[in-house]
Order: sequence, then structure tokens, then C-alpha cells
Amino acid sequence: MTENVRMSARRRRVLLGLGAMALPAWLGAKPPPLAKARVVVIGGGVAGAACARWLRWLSPQLRIVLIEPQAIVYSGFFCNTVIAGLHPLAHVARQPAALSDDRIEVVAAAVTGVETDRRRIYLSDGRALSADAIVLAPGIAMRSDSVAGFDGLAMRDNPPAWPGGRKALATVRDRLLALPPGGVVVVAPPAAPYRCPPGPYERVSLFAHVLLQRNPRAKILIADAKDSFSKQTLFLEAWARHYPGMIEWIGRQDGGQVEHYDHASQRVQLANGDVIAADWSHIIPQQKAGLVAESAGVTDRSGWISVDPTDFHVPGTQGVYAVGDATQAQPMPKSAFSAYNQARACSHAIVASLQGRPFEPELLANTCYSMVTPDAAFSVSSLYEVRRGQLRIRNPDSQLSPLIASVEARRREADEARALYAHLMRLCYGR
Ligand SMILES: Cc1cc2nc3c(=O)[nH]c(=O)nc-3n(C[C@H](O)[C@H](O)[C@H](O)COP(=O)(O)OP(=O)(O)OC[C@H]3O[C@@H](n4cnc5c(N)ncnc54)[C@H](O)[C@@H]3O)c2cc1C
Repeated sequence: MTENVRMSARRRRVLLGLGAMALPAWLGAKPPPLAKARVVVIGGGVAGAACARWLRWLSPQLRIVLIEPQAIVYSGFFCNTVIAGLHPLAHVARQPAALSDDRIEVVAAAVTGVETDRRRIYLSDGRALSADAIVLAPGIAMRSDSVAGFDGLAMRDNPPAWPGGRKALATVRDRLLALPPGGVVVVAPPAAPYRCPPGPYERVSLFAHVLLQRNPRAKILIADAKDSFSKQTLFLEAWARHYPGMIEWIGRQDGGQVEHYDHASQRVQLANGDVIAADWSHIIPQQKAGLVAESAGVTDRSGWISVDPTDFHVPGTQGVYAVGDATQAQPMPKSAFSAYNQARACSHAIVASLQGRPFEPELLANTCYSMVTPDAAFSVSSLYEVRRGQLRIRNPDSQLSPLIASVEARRREADEARALYAHLMRLCYGR
């Protein structure tokens, strides 16, 4: 039956007021029999697709609905290799509709509203759904106020492609190739937290790989909103080795943060007062949870969804969960690998909750590879556990690739990165 009811602002405030209670799902209520239960997953990116498939693997009888407006989703993971021309666009494209092979009902619509207390979901096609459990996996939205001048038309015209689809990735590649001989591109990574912490620096590396072949006198200036970045020593060593003199990094402490962008001239003004006459400025703005999370009233002041990492439920709700980049799950980085692990743990927790049995929190993992040339990569891997309700890196600490490594060792990691990508995508989408 069609309903067009939106959650009232008052109801949202009431829900937010319950934020500290962290009730486990189904406390004091009898769960429905598993065969009659319906779980609705919002978003068909890595987190949502993984969650839907894990639910199916754990329970053949559960009704699972996945809502995703885009017929084709493009993964951020490996999108830098598309910009660099190492892979065609099809390499990072997946169709959420393929999940119907697993008896997952895939709905091609956007969620326009969520009533968390009644577990009602409102769709762009006018329909409304009820759910016994809801999983929010809407990814990220860009903050259009993070760099003055970089909003609306400017952002559409000069896309961050984080990852963006066909048009955005092609635009970035075209701009890179159109750089005049000896030209300057400014790359402006955001302040943390944001999607894929090493992603901007991998993108810089692959920009440099393209420029080295076509435009070797070109320069890349990284105007950073941070004082340090993921795998920094490894990137700096790789840049000195593969792209000497081509890449310069200015951190926040040296006033590197971009304060103003002028779309017409592509000039940027840095916090230290310098105005850079760039030929192209590639800005990756600060980020927050996908917009539906905000309208559902589940984001906190940081703009992300706080979750209980034990089972990834949203504190103050019953049967509402969130996974993937939209969540505040530090120290786990916002990565596809993290999203997949969170989705797996969350699916176990949902099935346990629907069966009315306790759930033991699982160990979570993340591995992030960065390609610095088509044949060289390095990685960081960590295990995470829940201690006193908080996610912590488990001892021993993260494994980082060695700073000094042979050509073969870096090539092996590039092969591993490609294999991991293929494997993860197969787990999420079946191919
Ligand atoms: C350049 C780059 C490089 C990266 N490299 C790596 C890497 O090497 N390794 C790695 O592990 N990760 C990497 N990542 C990160 C990875 O891509 C993300 O962490 C991952 O995509 C997060 O998955 P998600 O499902 O949370 O979000 P997304 O993949 O963005 O999916 C969210 C989905 O929700 C949908 N949605 C949004 N709003 C609604 C709504 N209202 N209703 C219904 N659906 C909605 C969207 O259409 C979207 O399909 C990289 C990212 C980038 C940008």
C-alpha cells in the first residue's frame, strides 16, 4: 500500500534523545519467525550488497530487499586505475540487479525517508515498506561548504570523482590529458575522516604515471588539509623513486589547505596566503554520511552515523543498523574491505537477533592496497576487536609493507591488489 508519510521533525528529535541507550534489537519484544522476517538494505554499494548476500547465505528463508536507485554502481576501489587508463570503465561497474539471482528483491528506487521507530521506509516511487530490520548503507555525500567556491556548478563541472560514474571519471581523465606541457595540477585531499584515506595519494601516483609518459615536465602540487596521511613514508619514497621532482606536498601545518577555489581560472588560494595559478585544480571535498542518513535522523554532529560496533546497530533504535562508509567506525578506515567486514558481522548479528539468540562480536579486518605504478603497490592490514564497546586495533599493530622492498615484492603486492579487488567484487555481486 502506498503511503507518503514523512518522519516528523519531533519524532526525529525524540529518537535522537534516546541516542545513549543502545538497546539491543528485540529487547523485550518477540522477534518474528525468521521465515516471515523482512530485512531492508538501503544502498547497493559494497556494504549493502555484501550485507544482502551474507543475509542470504546465513538464512535461506529470510525476505531480503535491497534498495538502490542506480542500475550500475561504480566502485571507488580501483577507480583510480580507470582514470589512469589501466582498466576500462566496465572493470569497476557492477549491476545490483544481479543480486536477484540470490532471491534478493532488488528495488530500483531511492529511499526518501526512514521512520526508524516504526521501521518504515519511503521510496521515490511513492511506495512504503515495513521491515523487521533495516540496514543503512548509503555511502557518502560531499560537503559542499568545505572549500569556498567549490560547490554546485563548479563541483559538477570539475568533479571530485570519488568515485563518480562514467562522466565524472572520464572528465578527470580528460582534464589530466589536457594539461598543457609543463602544466601544474593542484590536488586537494580532504581532512579526515573521509572515504579511502590513501585514495588521494594513490590517485596522485597514477596521475604522475600518466604524466610521466605524456607530459614529463608537468607538476603535481598536493595542497593538503592534513598534517600527515596514510602510508605517507611509503608514498614519499615511491614518488622519489618513480616520479622524481614531479610531486610536491604541502601539509596543513605549512598552510597547505585550500581556502578558496576560483572555477573560471582554476586558481586556488591556500591557508598560507599563496595563490596557485594551476592549470587544473582537482579538489576532493570533506565528506559526511549519504544524505538519507541525515533525513532519517541517525547522524551525529560529525555528520556520520554512530554505530555500536558489537553488532552495528544504531544506538537508540531497535532493529536499525548501519554499515560501510556512512558510519563512524574509527579506527577502521572507510574502505571497501572494512565495509565488507562490517556487513558480514552485521548480517550475523541481525540473524541472531531475529532468532532471539545472543551474538558474539566478531574480529574485523581491513587491508588496503595502493597502486603507485601499474606494477607496484604496497598495503596496510589491521585486525580490529570490540573492547568495552569500542573498536580497537588488535595487537600486534597494523602490518605495513616494508619501506624498502624489491621490485618483485612491490609487483607481488600489485598482483595481490588486483586479485583482492576481483575477489571482493565477486563476493559482493557474484562477479
Ligand atoms: C579513489 C578511491 C580508491 C579506493 N580504493 C580502495 C581500495 O583500494 N581498497 C578498499 O578497500 N577501498 C577503496 N576505496 C573505498 C571504497 O570504494 C568504499 O569504502 C566503498 O565503496 C564503501 O562502500 P559503501 O557501500 O559504504 O558505499 P558506496 O559504495 O558509495 O555505496 C552506497 C550506495 O548507496 C546508494 N544510496 C545512496 N543514497 C541512497 C538512497 N537514498 N536510497 C537508496 N540507495 C542509496 C548509492 O547509490 C550507492 O550505490 C576507494 C575509494 C575511492 C574513492
